[in-house]
Amino acid sequence: MTKKLNILVVAGDGIGPEVTAEAVRILESVAEMGYHEFHFRHELIGGVAIDAHGSPLPQATLDAALKSDAVLLGAVGHNKFNALPPSERPEAGLLQIRAALGGFANLRPSFAWPGLAVNSPLRPEIVEGADILFVRELLGGLYFGEPRHWDKTTGSAWNTMRYTRDEVVRVAKVAFELAQKRRKKVTSVDKANVLEVSQLWRATVTEVAKDYPGVTLEHQYVDAMAMHIMNSPRSYDVVLTENLFGDILSDEAGVITGSLGMLPSATIGGKVDLYEPVHGSAPDIAGKGIANPIGAILTAAMLLRHSGGLEQDAEAIEAAVKKVLDQGYRTADLARGDKSASVLSTQEMGRRVHEALNEILSRRQAMHAV
Ligand code: NAD
Repeated sequence: MTKKLNILVVAGDGIGPEVTAEAVRILESVAEMGYHEFHFRHELIGGVAIDAHGSPLPQATLDAALKSDAVLLGAVGHNKFNALPPSERPEAGLLQIRAALGGFANLRPSFAWPGLAVNSPLRPEIVEGADILFVRELLGGLYFGEPRHWDKTTGSAWNTMRYTRDEVVRVAKVAFELAQKRRKKVTSVDKANVLEVSQLWRATVTEVAKDYPGVTLEHQYVDAMAMHIMNSPRSYDVVLTENLFGDILSDEAGVITGSLGMLPSATIGGKVDLYEPVHGSAPDIAGKGIANPIGAILTAAMLLRHSGGLEQDAEAIEAAVKKVLDQGYRTADLARGDKSASVLSTQEMGRRVHEALNEILSRRQAMHAV
């Protein structure tokens, strides 16, 4: 079935444009081979938008985002803006677009790629086979709750962790629905032994689980979970968390993959879904052509899966990445001094994945033709 998708590309700063170009090339290839119509519009965000328009999220970018089917973002951030107040810096553009699009479920896969286990600080026999999908609630909890204040006269400060039942229900449904398509297990993380918010969270998730009898639900306290993820990452499938706990645990689980440059993410459930690699603009390597584009390429796969309903194409991209890694190709962040690795530039890695993808898609077409 052919698919039409209007994709807004906001490549941003630093390595953002370098890695996003490779992700777009991959999407173009999927469109061409599958006779899909993907229309790409490019707009500015972050530091490049401040330079051109004086705002990290110009109105034209926001309007285009709201009219699109999906937004593919690279990264924002540049050292030259470090002296500006937070609300005027490139990163403000990111927070503003996330808020405007309104996604409440942040999806972060943590996958142990065969061959990269040596890159993880964990022992290979611990990480091999790990495949976790974090579903983190993104619009509630401690980061948004009121009241919040720092009273400098009394030397006290407070934030509020607050959730409503409806906020928990909608993100829990996302987790259970995704688990149905995976290994059918949801681990819900809370601190119900101490926090009332977590007691609401646990009771609500337990209630939602009744609508998904094929999915096993388990509850874990966040402190125990921080240990379990490191001790036995293979035990987890979908991990459902509130905002703060998910922020911390998904970064912790990122070490399973072995490089920040390998991690994709998606934020879904709002007006328009937003797709971005986890890494930032990496000013230390920007412009050198050595950034790892795989996080951005896997982000494109998530876009096809969640906004395009193109599961097979998403899997083909993931299979292409696996093939290239199996062949021993690495970017500098993955090689880590391994003399036997073939170290590629950003573009060369993009081209290798592109070639592997075309091979996989051609084979698929040939099979359908038989
Ligand atoms: P970073 O993710 O940019 O970089 C951290 C380290 O990882 C650096 O050594 C970098 O070279 C390396 N790295 C990151 N992505 C890589 C890739 N694809 N390939 C190879 N190596 C990679 O984080 P940082 O240095 O803390 O922040 C730099 C800037 O990015 C800051 O302005 C920060 O605010 C911003 N930032 C933006 C986002 C985003 O756009 N989503 C996320 C995090 C940080």
